Amino acid sequence: MLTKRWNIHQENPDYQAIREAAELLRDGRTVAFPTETVYGLGADATNEAAVSGIFRAKGRPEDNPLIAHVATKEQLRSLVSTLPSVAEKLLDQFTPGPLTVVLPSNGVCAGNVTSGLSTIGVRIPEHPVARELLKACDIPVAAPSANISGKPSPTTADHVWEDLNGKISGLVDGGSTGVGVESTVVDCTQDVPIVLRPGGITKEQLKAAVGSVMVDPALANTEESPKAPGMKYTHYAPEVPMWLVAGTPEDLQAIIDREQDGQKRIGAMVSTATADKLQADRVIQLGSDLREIAASLYDALRIFKNGDVDLIVCETFPQTDIGQAIMNRLKKAATSYVDK
Ligand code: AMP
Ligand code: MG
Repeated sequence: MLTKRWNIHQENPDYQAIREAAELLRDGRTVAFPTETVYGLGADATNEAAVSGIFRAKGRPEDNPLIAHVATKEQLRSLVSTLPSVAEKLLDQFTPGPLTVVLPSNGVCAGNVTSGLSTIGVRIPEHPVARELLKACDIPVAAPSANISGKPSPTTADHVWEDLNGKISGLVDGGSTGVGVESTVVDCTQDVPIVLRPGGITKEQLKAAVGSVMVDPALANTEESPKAPGMKYTHYAPEVPMWLVAGTPEDLQAIIDREQDGQKRIGAMVSTATADKLQADRVIQLGSDLREIAASLYDALRIFKNGDVDLIVCETFPQTDIGQAIMNRLKKAATSYVDK
């Protein structure tokens, strides 16, 4: 399959390119596009065959439902059987933006979007290219992250190209995404909203908006099976084994020294502050605060290819603010968790 690629400047979208991409989506094809979180791989959410194309291209397990993306709250309403007031409050406060609400589906979207569940996840993204594309095609667009299943999510068009060139019909290159980790998924089918996946909107922000918020117990306890089916899969994995190390920079250095003595080449993934105190074969600086670290995380997880280093050592981060999402992803990406 030939993958058509368009380059678009966020501030000055090329409407002809957006119309072409929208036409492909309306025609039942798969098109990747930027959102403010990560790149999504879109297809017409009302067309079962089109949606199958997403699962095929990504190699995504069929029991992992997709998020439907829409341009407006009215369009969101047209996909659900009820819109409880708590969901409405969250939507008014945080959308367009990195929030996905899970609500009872009314069956307008194809059955494979929801993997047969009675609920559907819906999001109104904020990225100008995503918004223009959704407006131009005027259909709900099912869109998971535009990566091969199991790999880190794409935050640049080149990441998408690396994974999906030749497997999808189009790629709208709108530059780097902003937030860097996926949307927060919130189940709004009960009285109290439940965070199923931490993401761009933090639990503290949700609480400030609606009072009580619960967190899916499976996020803290690996014995429980998660309510968001996708959360049970290995995800975000770099090509090289990665140890996630809870400890001081000195603890990290001791592990690096020991493994180097065992003839391993070590790549370190750490904050700017820790990088100043560390020596390894290669050091990737993720940034100086949690927002910067989130934005650079997936690119960093893709940097080391097989053979570059033998082991990645990554430090842990405080689970405050977007740190919850960062640590959730790092725990899934790591082959071992080392608590010093
Ligand atoms: P992705 O789009 O690849 O970032 O993944 C979407 C995430 O949302 C996965 O973890 C899905 O399991 C979750 N999700 C999507 N729809 C639902 C739903 N109806 N109920 C619960 N989780 C969902
Ligand atoms: Mg994904």
